[in-house]
Amino acid sequence: MQRALRIAIVGLIIGPFAGQSIAQEGFWPGADYDPAIPTIEDVLGHASGERITWHRDTIRYFEALAEAAPDRVTLQRYAESWEGRELIYAVISSPENMARIEDVKANMQRLSDPRKTTRAAADSIISNQPAVTWLSYGVHGNEISSTDAAIMTAYHLLAARGDDRVADILRDTVVVIDPMQNPDGRDRFIHRFEIAEGLEPSPDLISAEHNEPWPNGRTNHYLFDMNRDWFIMTQPETRGRVRALQEWYPVAFVDAHEMGSNSTYYFSPEAVPFNPHLAKNQTESLELFGRTNAYWFDRFGLDYFTREVFDAFYPGYGASWPSYFGGIAMTYEQASARGLVVRKYDGVEMTYRDTVRNHFITSLGTAQTAAENRKKLLEDFYGYQVSAIEEGRSERIRSYIVPAQNDQAAADKMAGLLVRQGVEVGRATASFSACGNSYEAGSYVINLAQPRKRLVRTLLDADVPMDDEFLAEQERRRAKKIRDEIYDVTAWSLPLMMNVQTDSCGRSVNAAIVAAGPELVQPGVVSGGTGSVGYLVPWGSSSAVRLLAHALRRGLSVKSSNLAFTHMETRYPSGTLILDTADNPEGLRDVMVELARETGANVSAVDDSWVTDGPNFGSMRVVRFSAPKVAILWDTPTSSYSAGNTRFVIERQFDYPVTAIRVSTLAEGDLSGYQVLIMPEAWPDYRPAIGDEVIAKLKDWVERGGVLIGVGNATRLLADPNVDLLAIRRENAVVEAEDEDKKDKKPAKKNGDEPQETTVEGQYVGDQDEYQALITAEKASPDSVAGVLARANVDPDHWLGAGTAATLNVLVRGPDIYTPIRLDKGVNVAVFPGADELLASGYMWEQNRKQLAYKPFAVAQPMGRGFVIGFTQDPNVRAYLDGLNVIFMNAIFRGSAHARPVR
Ligand SMILES: [Zn+2]
Repeated sequence: MQRALRIAIVGLIIGPFAGQSIAQEGFWPGADYDPAIPTIEDVLGHASGERITWHRDTIRYFEALAEAAPDRVTLQRYAESWEGRELIYAVISSPENMARIEDVKANMQRLSDPRKTTRAAADSIISNQPAVTWLSYGVHGNEISSTDAAIMTAYHLLAARGDDRVADILRDTVVVIDPMQNPDGRDRFIHRFEIAEGLEPSPDLISAEHNEPWPNGRTNHYLFDMNRDWFIMTQPETRGRVRALQEWYPVAFVDAHEMGSNSTYYFSPEAVPFNPHLAKNQTESLELFGRTNAYWFDRFGLDYFTREVFDAFYPGYGASWPSYFGGIAMTYEQASARGLVVRKYDGVEMTYRDTVRNHFITSLGTAQTAAENRKKLLEDFYGYQVSAIEEGRSERIRSYIVPAQNDQAAADKMAGLLVRQGVEVGRATASFSACGNSYEAGSYVINLAQPRKRLVRTLLDADVPMDDEFLAEQERRRAKKIRDEIYDVTAWSLPLMMNVQTDSCGRSVNAAIVAAGPELVQPGVVSGGTGSVGYLVPWGSSSAVRLLAHALRRGLSVKSSNLAFTHMETRYPSGTLILDTADNPEGLRDVMVELARETGANVSAVDDSWVTDGPNFGSMRVVRFSAPKVAILWDTPTSSYSAGNTRFVIERQFDYPVTAIRVSTLAEGDLSGYQVLIMPEAWPDYRPAIGDEVIAKLKDWVERGGVLIGVGNATRLLADPNVDLLAIRRENAVVEAEDEDKKDKKPAKKNGDEPQETTVEGQYVGDQDEYQALITAEKASPDSVAGVLARANVDPDHWLGAGTAATLNVLVRGPDIYTPIRLDKGVNVAVFPGADELLASGYMWEQNRKQLAYKPFAVAQPMGRGFVIGFTQDPNVRAYLDGLNVIFMNAIFRGSAHARPVR
């Protein structure tokens, strides 16, 4: 029935194509546009696809549309970028739908909860409810065509008179257009593109127009890939979108991207592996959209592909997150012109206009499919909620409980994040027991018989399994050294990443609870005495770190005990902060109350200094913090993600300023004003950008009291034997034992002075194994890991591990594995455990798992008056490994406190 309808509509459209050269026509052949609606040229002075439209002009054009057709389009501001640019979406539908648009939204809210809306009520809503289609563009700012396609799509929906689909689309759907998800990145791209422009656009990929300097426009201000941020919402742009989507609950959501210039066009259905928590009919519906897009691409004679490369296993993409409230989420990818014209590898020139048109075609195709399948999509949306609740009632895991715990700030944040994504979270008002455990008041309870059950499972389960067949294929490819097809990390469990104890239970929990709110930070309090002697802040939570950062910025005097101690029968962990009243300005109590409130840290006021166990406040084991000046290496060859995300963690999660220093200025720059220098990851390596002179300079600065912190693959440089800033070494892949005897049979290495033989010894290859040994690289690095969570055990005696959890969960990515440091050189402060214990979540090659055992994650090495600290994996990836915040911030604040002042 639906199919017949589509063919009928299509039949009406074919006419205008007959005998016309599409390339010479407007965007939609045969369409005639209402002159009352301003064209892009009228408002901005350029035709669609002729220029890459700036953020401010895009807003200006949408405002002109809203003014010209107020009965069919409204604009809504939903967020502001770090650099102050506004993010908007346009709502477009028929005047009838627009007149009752609040009802349309309210109806989607009703359909989203079958506990409040019976099947009969749902049927009655669906009979007269437009399906919301959400078209999102340009989350990656240098994927430029989509924003201009958004402009063209809006214009077409409001002005086209020759396309019969438009009336159906406006009647049966509400089209929400988010023209620009990343305005900071887009304007960065355009600015640099225009700087490089000359008399004519160059199609050459090596021309400056096509070569983006660091950082490219993909990311936002803090250099985040916002297409990974959806469930963790560290960025204001993402937070606004997450809020907006839950107001509308679109049944179809498209995230329009670009890919490499030599490709064609990609649309759904997506690649395997599918996330097992998605509902089956969601993956089936992807095909409906794919087929319509394919139909139009055939009409235009355009190439495309489906089912390869782009999967939706990870829940933090735009093409996956909306699936967890029951929508159909998709990614579309257009080969990028990265400018106004590009010559592809086969000599064909592709213009910017071509790329804009292709996204425009699929945008309309998507709205058309939603209109044609309005009823099915709405029914599936309601059915999704019904089955989610049913599964939550009957599956093995029926509730999650987050006990009140030491790092309550982390538990609060996790609960707040879930609430912001529509999860119903309760906070116990009294103690209770469940599944044989007792829980204190303040524990969080998440019963899974709720519409967001699938989101909760995918975010809180320790592991989300990948399809066996898919994994077998990856092992086969790896054996042949063909690149694997795992697109992103294979582990993202929030309790592991945030180090929050979370219990699952096979029954729903019946406890006295109140609904938890969306706050991420609960205000802390000052308790205890009057504070005549001072204030103690137990160490180990991100809120305590934030309090330290705030206190140092205010110029307060803060000390810290390297060892745990007992005061008035309370045990304080190692690293606890001590603020002496005598050392600080008058009115400290008021300041502490304010600090506790704004940072979320709890503070104990003490009136005597006597400790019954552990060091006294005046012990040599107690150190005084300086307020370190912190710098981070910036610009090429650093990885923009690592540099930006690390700076974000320090500046926006802990409110401590960081100075960015370009690698290219290191040679002449004076570092003596800084106490801490962070080296983020590099792409591909710091060599040769950092030469021997800079190495010598860094070594000298450390010896004079600097703290050099290497992050992730920056450790490669520090551990390079020719650099030797850190006495560990990067390992090659282990040569397996059976290959060992074959290695012995190899002819001895020739002395370099002898002339090279022109031939080699002949040999028989007896079987497949021998053949494999023969083609295996003699010296290779371990295989690259896509991303797993691995445990690392912390040495509690070292200040770098002060107050942290005994076991951390580290995101392990890439091929790098290092030897541990010898005790005469330094301390392995966090070490991966044995091969059978180390994997916490995700898919890891067996050889890597075996080789990573007992290798270091965090190493501290004293050098002169300073320290070199190496984190062999990046603790700040996507700013979502909160469980690693304390050890990383220890490196900054405790590293500089233990070093001697830089001189
Ligand atoms: Zn993209």
